[in-house]
Amino acid sequence: MMFDKILIANRGEIALRVIRACREMGIRSVAVHSTADSDAMHVRLADESVCIGPPPSPQSYLSFPNIISACEITGADAIHPGYGFLSENAAFVQIVEDHDITFIGPKAEHIRVMGDKITAKETMKNLGVPCVPGSDGGVPDLETAEKVAAEIGYPVIVKATAGGGGRGMKLAKTAADLPNAFRTARSESKAAFGNDEVYIEKYLTKPRHIEIQVFGDGKGNAVHLGERDCSLQRRHQKVFEEAPGPVIDAETRNRIGNICADAVARINYIGAGTIEFLFEDGEFYFIEMNTRLQVEHPVTEGIFGVDLVREQIRVAQGLPLSFSQDDLVVNGHAIEVRINAEKLPNFTPCPGTVGMYHAPGGLGVRMDSALYGGYTIPPYYDSLIGKLIVHGRDREEALSRLQRALSEIVIEGIDTTLPLFDGLLAEPDIRAGNYDIHWLEKWLAAQGA
Ligand code: ADP
Repeated sequence: MMFDKILIANRGEIALRVIRACREMGIRSVAVHSTADSDAMHVRLADESVCIGPPPSPQSYLSFPNIISACEITGADAIHPGYGFLSENAAFVQIVEDHDITFIGPKAEHIRVMGDKITAKETMKNLGVPCVPGSDGGVPDLETAEKVAAEIGYPVIVKATAGGGGRGMKLAKTAADLPNAFRTARSESKAAFGNDEVYIEKYLTKPRHIEIQVFGDGKGNAVHLGERDCSLQRRHQKVFEEAPGPVIDAETRNRIGNICADAVARINYIGAGTIEFLFEDGEFYFIEMNTRLQVEHPVTEGIFGVDLVREQIRVAQGLPLSFSQDDLVVNGHAIEVRINAEKLPNFTPCPGTVGMYHAPGGLGVRMDSALYGGYTIPPYYDSLIGKLIVHGRDREEALSRLQRALSEIVIEGIDTTLPLFDGLLAEPDIRAGNYDIHWLEKWLAAQGA
């Protein structure tokens, strides 16, 4: 079925990203917005807009009935969920489909399987994807936990099967830490997710976060689009992402990439997905799969020259992928930095009114942002206000271009995380690509943050 109109159930830069793809494809777009976002850029750029409720997300961007009603009123054929909000909500996908609206994303079943970490891990293991050594499934009590941990060896990490956003994870360095880690992981998980099931994994001490972009057509065909290195994180939140990974060579990329593409092809996966790994001493260890478009997808678009949102829309219409694995050849190097409306050094959210705004430009520079001069950032949502993505023929050129683009950006009136990147670019480790998932936290601590 060809779409005439797509409703975008999101806001901010990702809503703009989807509107842009729609426009290039000749498809009309519908923006939805809360009353706090009446003046937002996605509302201005879409062909139509519908107000779906008051500022708190549960009453607007997360409200099933309000979003479905907006679809019915505007006659939209499909919903693009962006990332966050309803993008990985299997119940929502089911309801959308029950209303004969197409969800631009995977099937509810796949979202459900990957949303539960124990089931996700079991599924991936059976599909031949390498996983972190750990318990086979849930660990019901402390006695079992102690037995499992002794077998795999300390340090271990206790993780909530319903976990997300870095919550419900506790480290036990030695056997003495285990009772406490087990108890707190369970109670935190119960409080945050209403489910106290936990499992145990070997704790890797100096891994990099390497994730593989996959794409399926829902008919048993799938490709991989290489990796992104997203090791630079603060509190498990990604800050700086690059592709290709500084320590991944072509042979390694093809080996793990093919394993991932095969795995998703075998389950008839449809659309974009990301298989996340920890990578240590040359080995990959699966941690989770995200069944949606990622914030950092532009670095992959940069090195392969493809439009992933366009591709999501194509396969949702039943069309084949517009590229084959052989068409996907890495070209150069791309880096993304996330610009948040936060005050350093503590990353305190600081919404407010933007004064002058000037976006960087020039060769190899892409700025994905919904900002404009005079815009007031509402306090109710995520603090991400922009992504600066640069592309160069090699990593060195991408780094110089990033530095140059950063020198051009002007965002007046609010505090942002921009100064962080000037600091990072001055670090020899960053210039050399020499960092793991703990590097940024240690560096921030050394800066006195
Ligand atoms: P969430 O869904 O909460 O983001 P993940 O399973 O993706 O949880 O893990 C988030 C982060 O926690 C990883 O990027 C990594 O930094 C750390 N982590 C998770 N599992 C392990 C492990 N087995 N060893 C070391 N660090 C881990």
